[in-house]
Amino acid sequence: MSYPFENMPVSAPLLLKGDPSIEHYSQDTMMQATPDAVLRARDVQEIKEVLQYCNAEKIPVTFCGSQTSMTGASVAGEGLLVSTEKLEKIHDIGTLYGCHYATAEPGIIISDLKKKAAEEGFFYPPSPTSQDNARLGATVSTNATGKDSLKYGTTRKYIREIKVLLADGSEKIFSRTPEEPIPDALNRAGYFTSSNNPLDWFIGGEGTLGFIYEVTVDLIPKPLHFFSGLAPFPDFFSAIDFVVSCVTEGKMSPRALELIDNEALSYMKTHPSFPQGLKEAHTLIYFKQEYKDEADFERVLSLWLPKLAEETLIATADKQQEEMRLWRHHIPSSLNEHWRKFWNRGGGKIGSDWWVPIKKLKEMMQYVQKTGKELGLPYMTYAHVGMGHPHVNYLCKNGEEKCRAEAVLLQCCRKAVTFGGGVCGEHGLGKLHRNLLPIQCTKNEIGRMQAIKKEFDPNWILGRGNMLEFI
Ligand SMILES: Cc1cc2nc3c(=O)[nH]c(=O)nc-3n(C[C@H](O)[C@H](O)[C@H](O)COP(=O)(O)OP(=O)(O)OC[C@H]3O[C@@H](n4cnc5c(N)ncnc54)[C@H](O)[C@@H]3O)c2cc1C
Repeated sequence: MSYPFENMPVSAPLLLKGDPSIEHYSQDTMMQATPDAVLRARDVQEIKEVLQYCNAEKIPVTFCGSQTSMTGASVAGEGLLVSTEKLEKIHDIGTLYGCHYATAEPGIIISDLKKKAAEEGFFYPPSPTSQDNARLGATVSTNATGKDSLKYGTTRKYIREIKVLLADGSEKIFSRTPEEPIPDALNRAGYFTSSNNPLDWFIGGEGTLGFIYEVTVDLIPKPLHFFSGLAPFPDFFSAIDFVVSCVTEGKMSPRALELIDNEALSYMKTHPSFPQGLKEAHTLIYFKQEYKDEADFERVLSLWLPKLAEETLIATADKQQEEMRLWRHHIPSSLNEHWRKFWNRGGGKIGSDWWVPIKKLKEMMQYVQKTGKELGLPYMTYAHVGMGHPHVNYLCKNGEEKCRAEAVLLQCCRKAVTFGGGVCGEHGLGKLHRNLLPIQCTKNEIGRMQAIKKEFDPNWILGRGNMLEFI
């Protein structure tokens, strides 16, 4: 279908299909799709007028940050794609009535926000592995988590207020009062309808309800110190046992607890500065632990070290810690780049985002191993295992392998739900995993979500194809 872009009220020219620069906006981590036009919006008024126009003309509009989504949520095969890359201002960082906060535009990159907050002595806890690219408005729309969510929770916990434009361009403000309890569970799937506050529907709403043009986040005082560690384990399940006991016994209270299995380690080892001493390891646990002072450092270290192998690497200096973070980040970035090469044969990587309560983790991983063996394809497991939320990635060379892996992923999602977990802990469903919604939610629950969608976006122009079937 061709849309009337010629009369769209924009100050700078749109990128139109056929323009070579539009290719830059034609894929996320998992999916390729080229929109008819791209707007690199410069101010809110421009987006408001564009939305009014698109709503009247029924032109589909998809929002994107840096397009690191894992679900196709930030790509569009039709209509207009609105990028937030030029909306990067931090308006204010401060303290009001004893509460620390930052107010910013949606395009600010998370690590930039964290740096600015730190300069003022504050800490913005959400730390997705992609924090050097991921943008604030997008992380609200996916309710991103990250390494530090084990201690600090999900993005939702820190969102105090959002200002949004609805599909017809009207402005709304949604906020949470200090007294209001904040739901702190990992995502399950779809809108967060256990809350009646629309703020909670926008958080994790995958850009389907409106455009978030300003976000006020809560900040906390900067933690005094932490150390990071990489601990080798002789096999996969001894690492899992360690994680489960660490979380359930609660003696150490780590800030992060992440798994890197043997296959994932083979990618991590390709980082040029990865240490020789850990190259023989089978499975690694990456952890972070906070401490108050020198005496506390000795105390917490004495809790960790007896449980870990001699080769465990501990990083206390900023530079070493940053290096460890980059080794960890090297896994998904090199993995995604490598397996993207198989897209043209219908293959690629299929990644899980299910999670289970920590007490069910071992049973779930046994199920993953059993189904993985039957599948007969290579797969690897890494990430937020302390929250029962590892990512299992099936590596497929062609379309036939991908179909089989998708069937196994579906089985594992069903299993995770029977264990009381969720099908998408942090990535959302987007366009690629929409089929998982009925595994998690009843028909009635999905009906409520459709009603919310229709209330905010009656013409269904926003984020079309994300999360809900277009009806
Ligand atoms: C290497 C790698 C590591 C990753 N690690 C993590 C991780 O640890 N934790 C995690 O949670 N995720 C992770 N991700 C996934 C991804 O980075 C997150 O989903 C992130 O929130 C996306 O940010 P983005 O700026 O790239 O947004 P995009 O991918 O461009 O968009 C994501 C979603 O937000 C919507 N959106 C964007 N801006 C707005 C707006 N202003 N208003 C309304 N909707 C909007 C889009 O429509 C889309 O639905 C990782 C991805 C990669 C590639």
